[in-house]
Amino acid sequence: MKEHLLSLLRRSSSDLETFRRASDQLAYLLASDTIKRLGHTSISIKTPVGVATGKELRSEIMFVPILRAGLSILPSFLQLLPDALVGIIGIERDEETAMPHTYYKKFPDRLPEKAVIIDPMLATGGTALATVNLLQSLKYDLSDIFFSGIVASEAGLQALCEVLPADNITLVVVDPELNAKKYIVPGLGDYGDRYYGT
Ligand code: URA
Repeated sequence: MKEHLLSLLRRSSSDLETFRRASDQLAYLLASDTIKRLGHTSISIKTPVGVATGKELRSEIMFVPILRAGLSILPSFLQLLPDALVGIIGIERDEETAMPHTYYKKFPDRLPEKAVIIDPMLATGGTALATVNLLQSLKYDLSDIFFSGIVASEAGLQALCEVLPADNITLVVVDPELNAKKYIVPGLGDYGDRYYGT
């Protein structure tokens, strides 16, 4: 299913409705894969006819979508964990210094135990790494920071693996290259433009 949805996202002839529906559905599956990594507590449950063992999801989670594309996949994550908090971050590349520049950030006053950065495209890894730094400055340990995305470049994944444990990273696919404009190749183009129709 994930490969089918990814193919719809990649295809340049997919129209806005097709892209958006495939994105929403794939983000839901990605959210499920991501939440699996966040830990659980074993519980016993009284059913009408006995006692069963089960697992309870940890709900002390903050999702951190990176503007703008991260916002497009956030609703699928919140559908699965409706009580998760959300911290929003806007980062763009400074044209003069080529360094990531944070132009917007808003975090909850009470920070949950684990933070999950969400961004469908991990290109150079620059914005993800800047977000990791910011979360560390908020006192998050690296082991409590997670990343969830749809397409990564090999270079971006390598850069992120230098700071985050590999088990904290969830992706649908890793593509081989970045072009001169730092787009992932073959990738799917600009996720935000394609999702929002800009
Ligand atoms: N962001 C995108 O939306 N697409 C890419 O290929 C790289 C970064």
